Amino acid sequence: MIRAVYPGTFDPMTNGHLDILTRAADLFDEIIVAVADDNNKQTLFTPAERLALIEEEVNGQPKIKVMTFCGLTVEFARRQGARTLIRGLRAMSDYEYELQLAMMNKKFAPEIETIFLMAQVKYSFVSSSAIKWASRLEGRIEDFVPAGVERALREKYRLQAPR
Ligand code: ADP
Repeated sequence: MIRAVYPGTFDPMTNGHLDILTRAADLFDEIIVAVADDNNKQTLFTPAERLALIEEEVNGQPKIKVMTFCGLTVEFARRQGARTLIRGLRAMSDYEYELQLAMMNKKFAPEIETIFLMAQVKYSFVSSSAIKWASRLEGRIEDFVPAGVERALREKYRLQAPR
């Protein structure tokens, strides 16, 4: 059984994330989507909300599990018995950050490999932050996120709007 971990903030999950996840699930026996609980990013959704939005999409796919985690990603992967991390690459602008992260992870856990899947062109400009920005300004985001995520964003911003 070859298990891989797909770690990220997923604030919230987009169709780009989902595409990487589906393609990774074709390559491995099991994928654990690992929702980071304590990274440096200010998030709109709580870890439990981010996890629930992903679960709603992958529900019933036996190869995919969704978990939240704290601490180093490689330590989480070790605890889960996984030796592969999956990351997605969009433009060159992702490369520098991803390279640094992969090098740090390699230093902390030499036995763990990071594997990159290239984003499909149609998702290469989709990011959680752009989606949040567009949704807050009431832009149409239905081509870029699952319906449940679109609903959750609308609800979040409705609740946050001044009364
Ligand atoms: P992090 O804060 O760890 O970067 P993200 O949720 O932003 O978490 O991203 C998780 C992973 O998914 C990263 O490797 C990122 O490059 C990748 N990713 C994000 N958006 C897309 C997309 N549209 N297509 C492919 N990969 C993506």
